[in-house]
Amino acid sequence: MDPNTHKSPFKVIIIGSGLAGALLANGLIREGINVHVYERYERNSRRDGFQIRLTLPAILGLRSCLTPEHLAAVVKNFGPATGVKGEAPRVLHKDFSLLVDFSRFPAYGKNVPINRGILRNALSEPVYEAGKLDFEKSFESFEVIADGTEHEKIRVWFHDGSSDECDILIGADGSYSKVNKQVGLDSIHPIKKHIAFAAKCDLPTARFSKMSKELRVYLPGSRNQDDTQAGQEAAGKAYDESLSSIMVGLNVAKEIVPKGIQDADNDVQWDFVAECIRNWSSKHRETVELVRGAPLHIYTPRVATRPSRSWRKEVRSRTPGKPEYGHPRVWLMGDAVHAMLPPRGMGANQSMYDAVTMLPLLCKLDDVAKSRGNVSLSLIEEAVQEYEAEMIPRSFEWVKKSGGDDFVPVDSSTIKGKLFFILAAQALNLVCLWYRFKGIFTGEPLVEEIPEFSSS
Ligand SMILES: Cc1cc2nc3c(=O)[nH]c(=O)nc-3n(C[C@H](O)[C@H](O)[C@H](O)COP(=O)(O)OP(=O)(O)OC[C@H]3O[C@@H](n4cnc5c(N)ncnc54)[C@H](O)[C@@H]3O)c2cc1C
Repeated sequence: MDPNTHKSPFKVIIIGSGLAGALLANGLIREGINVHVYERYERNSRRDGFQIRLTLPAILGLRSCLTPEHLAAVVKNFGPATGVKGEAPRVLHKDFSLLVDFSRFPAYGKNVPINRGILRNALSEPVYEAGKLDFEKSFESFEVIADGTEHEKIRVWFHDGSSDECDILIGADGSYSKVNKQVGLDSIHPIKKHIAFAAKCDLPTARFSKMSKELRVYLPGSRNQDDTQAGQEAAGKAYDESLSSIMVGLNVAKEIVPKGIQDADNDVQWDFVAECIRNWSSKHRETVELVRGAPLHIYTPRVATRPSRSWRKEVRSRTPGKPEYGHPRVWLMGDAVHAMLPPRGMGANQSMYDAVTMLPLLCKLDDVAKSRGNVSLSLIEEAVQEYEAEMIPRSFEWVKKSGGDDFVPVDSSTIKGKLFFILAAQALNLVCLWYRFKGIFTGEPLVEEIPEFSSS
């Protein structure tokens, strides 16, 4: 079906053409649902091009929304998913001693690297090509246009004074979500204690060959490699610099970050980062030196607090004169509702999985609208409740596992912290044993096979 000629009494507007919004828009277009996306940035903007890792939830999102051809084109941008265990995180103390090694966990989820900017463009371009995406259109506010029946519309206003109307407004506008605020949830806040520093650069062969062998151990797949001198040299020869990059992130207590560091020279910023880890291991310092000179992204991370299942009813009763508050025609997805800290690498994965739950519910509403000419508010309310009943517990489990609103939930320099990591390592041993034992008797694979990973 040509999406431009589609006439439906049911229209969806999505704010934000990030990973969540652009992915869902593809699914809606594929299903012939009238959708329009508004994105504040320009087309092909090169912002936020850091590497993220996708695991099963994101792949399920891609499968549910993309055509097989589009999925295959996206998969081509995946980095190699070799040596799954080599990509699992290891927790090290600042002297580089190993605290916990998740690569030993037999059921650790498989994942692939991809540049976030490339993925975003691969998802948003087809939406743009279909005439369903306007760039440089910044959402300002929405209002409920009541017509005395339950078939009211949502009118959406943009920075240039223009507007558009829809039956369902979806806020996929990231961790600074205006939609979240205006629907009365207002659940995303800056974390109080830390400022985050992050930088990424290419890792050309010359730089790679000079890296300490201990750091090379942390490269994907390299655990299976020979770590003798000859083995390392062989690894260097097999190294593909076009697929390689290195990223450093450091979270610093707010009170020691100099005022105005965001606007300081890049050299001054890097000197500060180096100073912060002056007493850490030489390997940590070497990692910083490998990236020194790259532009530093300095920001205050934001985290969402978990809404209750009845948050819409609660905000409505708290603020009776505001028809927008808790309105069932306004839905939220991705970081706009469950912004989380990055350490567990689950933000994009959970954001993309939201589309898996949302898409069939929107299809059902569209079917009703097509057969009856409209869709009642009570059906819309039921649908958003069904979506949130799945989305809230799933995604907020990861908000919690990512540290909640604290980057340093356990300080490994303290006795309490050391004890915690000793117990965590022992617990991991027991879990590993249990998985092996279970595997012998059931013969079940420990982690689901993901065909998209082997074709990347
Ligand atoms: C350093 C770092 C590493 C990370 N690594 C991983 C990882 O390995 N794995 C993982 O799963 N996740 C990772 N994440 C998290 C992941 O990047 C986010 O969770 C994900 O991008 C959220 O997708 P989204 O679509 O909800 O929001 P976004 O991708 O932020 O998209 C929101 C979109 O809305 C647009 N927008 C905002 N306001 C407006 C407005 N008023 N009008 C119009 N448009 C608007 C924005 O321009 C943007 O395009 C990482 C994050 C960081 C910071």
